[in-house]
Amino acid sequence: MFVLKVKKQEEIFELINNKKTFVFICEGCNEIFLYREEITKFLDSLSKENIIDTKIVDYICNPEYIKNYFEIFKKTIDLSDIILIFSCGVGVQTANKISNLPVYTGCDTLHIPGYKGVETVADENYDCILCGNCYLNYTANICPLTSCPKELLNGPCGGAKNGKCEIDNKKDCSWEKIFEKLKKYNNFEKIKNEILTRKF
Ligand code: SF4
Ligand code: SF4
Repeated sequence: MFVLKVKKQEEIFELINNKKTFVFICEGCNEIFLYREEITKFLDSLSKENIIDTKIVDYICNPEYIKNYFEIFKKTIDLSDIILIFSCGVGVQTANKISNLPVYTGCDTLHIPGYKGVETVADENYDCILCGNCYLNYTANICPLTSCPKELLNGPCGGAKNGKCEIDNKKDCSWEKIFEKLKKYNNFEKIKNEILTRKF
């Protein structure tokens, strides 16, 4: 079971910052517990001009499904500047892989054990350990907790060689990838001014 909590409104307002926003709400997992009322209240508080479209869908974490959604809703997605997603962290990372627009998460995934749809349908390259304080908006949608073996939150350990992780040299250093992507999208300042701390 998942429990998702809508992020603080100020954080999402800062991300949206008057950009035209396409919203996906995922209700794939049967046992998902999502504060729909909070999302509705939040969306209602935004200017109607900001929200281009809102779609409630199943299993954003399934690469085939999300690819289809991007095709089906292409008309309104093409009118948008960003995609805002209410789903677990795996859904956000999977959508980010295929989106040409910046993808942000509107919620935190809390730690609750039990059955999760992602265990059967998701892209196995992504994971979410339900940390309760999603960092993806700061880390270019690369989860520092599941992609870095040391679960570092504020930059690389310094042990990477030629871009490869010092713990597992078959994989790229996640933090080098995060920095590269942030630089590419001119988003580096945000993480420099932010202290990411573990909340659980
Ligand atoms: S930071 Fe990682 S573990 Fe935490 S909610 Fe986001 S995807 Fe999940
Ligand atoms: S080399 Fe990179 S991915 Fe590996 S433990 Fe250090 S910071 Fe994490």
